[in-house]
Amino acid sequence: MMFASLALVLLIIAGIWMLLHHHEPERDSKRRIIARINEILPQTQCQQCGYPGCLPYAQAIVSDGAPIDQCPPGGQVARRALAELLGRSGTSRRRANDFSPMSSQVVVINEPVCIGCTKCIQACPVDAIVGAAKQMHTIISTQCTGCELCIDPCPVDCIDIIDVADDIEHWRWQRPRWAGRERRAGTQP
Ligand code: SF4
Ligand code: SF4
Ligand code: SF4
Repeated sequence: MMFASLALVLLIIAGIWMLLHHHEPERDSKRRIIARINEILPQTQCQQCGYPGCLPYAQAIVSDGAPIDQCPPGGQVARRALAELLGRSGTSRRRANDFSPMSSQVVVINEPVCIGCTKCIQACPVDAIVGAAKQMHTIISTQCTGCELCIDPCPVDCIDIIDVADDIEHWRWQRPRWAGRERRAGTQP
């Protein structure tokens, strides 16, 4: 009798353990695939994909089925690598419908107005701004991805966007239409 009770308790414990760990392998494989996607993404953390960084975008691709072609800095190279990794192909309907024909852009600082507060430097994910505290700042245009993340933090509104020719130095894959100021202002999804 005592043996039967002990066996029953062990069975219950084993059942609870199995219930708790049932999804572990699935979670592990999800984590691994997210890590591999994140390795493919360029890590500029520019948010042009519509997510707050590369890792959140990688998570959205796996968990929410986000399209794989939303990363302008990664362009075709990243899209192809993601397609190969995930067995997905082609340009998403969302991209085909929602990408606007934006030309490549960079930002420039109106240097006489700049007060040298360094807020733009802190916001730039790719170190495209040079300058020291209380000195004028300037943009390294070949590094700038045109992500616009430095614009809102500037207290004197002295950073402007300029379109640039789609040459070898500045060409960028088209950006999602909801990227940039509209998205941050909450007027785009
Ligand atoms: S657009 Fe690309 S590089 Fe920029 S945050 Fe998204 S995934 Fe990262
Ligand atoms: S737009 Fe501003 S934050 Fe974005 S890369 Fe260019 S300088 Fe950096
Ligand atoms: S945020 Fe504006 S004022 Fe401050 S350093 Fe950058 S450009 Fe100059």
